[in-house]
Amino acid sequence: MKILTSLLILVASTLFSIPAFAATHTYTFNFKYDYEYGDVVSGDYYNNNAELVNTSGIHAKFYTQAGTLVWSGYTSSSGSVQLTLDDTQKYDILLEAKAHLDDNNYIYIKFSYANPLLHSQWVVTDLQPHTYSCTYNFAYNYNSTYKVSNILAGLSFSLNTKPASASSKSFTAYTQSCNDAGISSCYNCNIQALQYKQNERDHKFVIAHELGHHLEDTLSPGDCFTNDCSFNATDEEGAPECQSSGHCWTSKEYASCAANEGLAHFYSLAVWNDETENDCDFPKQNDPIECEIAHTLMEDKCNTCDPPGAYCCAGKGVEGDWAEFWWGMHSDICDTLTVAEVYYIYIDANPAAWGSSQGYSQLKDSATTLNGVPTSVWNDCADLYGIKHPLL
Ligand SMILES: [Zn+2]
Repeated sequence: MKILTSLLILVASTLFSIPAFAATHTYTFNFKYDYEYGDVVSGDYYNNNAELVNTSGIHAKFYTQAGTLVWSGYTSSSGSVQLTLDDTQKYDILLEAKAHLDDNNYIYIKFSYANPLLHSQWVVTDLQPHTYSCTYNFAYNYNSTYKVSNILAGLSFSLNTKPASASSKSFTAYTQSCNDAGISSCYNCNIQALQYKQNERDHKFVIAHELGHHLEDTLSPGDCFTNDCSFNATDEEGAPECQSSGHCWTSKEYASCAANEGLAHFYSLAVWNDETENDCDFPKQNDPIECEIAHTLMEDKCNTCDPPGAYCCAGKGVEGDWAEFWWGMHSDICDTLTVAEVYYIYIDANPAAWGSSQGYSQLKDSATTLNGVPTSVWNDCADLYGIKHPLL
């Protein structure tokens, strides 16, 4: 009895003499992206600049106020992590611009090719945890210079919803335009990376479009081909057909350029539009396009040629027609090909081997011979969207 009493006294004194045990609690941290898109109203997803969206596996680092790293790792697929922390300490939390997405894909957002430093953001400093377990919500905020949260949100959503069969792949984006003059965003196949210029980092359709190019090269390594979009057609007044770059949704281009840009546009349409609805948005500046409708832009150009005729469009194409064609092949207007199946067709067709004026017949052969699209389905859809313009 005497031994038991002293044991109880020992236990009691042990419990009350170590306040450190009483000071730890388990907290849930949820990290979100704050996006600000100029084309926010277009499409069916990420339609409200006031909303925050899950970060999907972003990388976080927790430091004590003294600078000791207490946790570093990727958050869950919904952007959360549970940690046990000491409520007598203060903490600083850094989010790094890299994420571990679904299908084991990764994205990294870096400053530039010359300075390949990851972007990052302190989402809170001097956080004194509550004296009870609770949930904290923090956001990777929009920054009007680099707009990293826009790129992270756009690429994460794109790859998670439409991976096009990519798995265990890495995707790097630089907040650097494709050339020093700041002219364009691109997928730069020489360095296998995305490059976004400043005023296109706030366009979700551009973010997904360039990823659409990246995916083609990623799924078919070595497909780094020169995309010849140098046709530079002019309108009736002799002005260039595109306002800001060498090719655009409506411009007449070499057939290979139209097919290649049409694929990237299609990827973007498939990411941001719900294919089960009967509409499709493309946010063309000042003149949004309803891409569920076949516009047959190339056919119009053939017919308005002087004199009109097939010679005028032989070996040429319009990327908007191709984008709408693939949308039709995907969204049940012509067929129900998945985004991955469209990419398989494209890769089978081996675009690296095309001449500038080629693409149509290679894609048709791949779709009908290798991928089981009935010839009649292809032909009807090609007629509907007006994409067949072979060399004469
Ligand atoms: Zn493009």
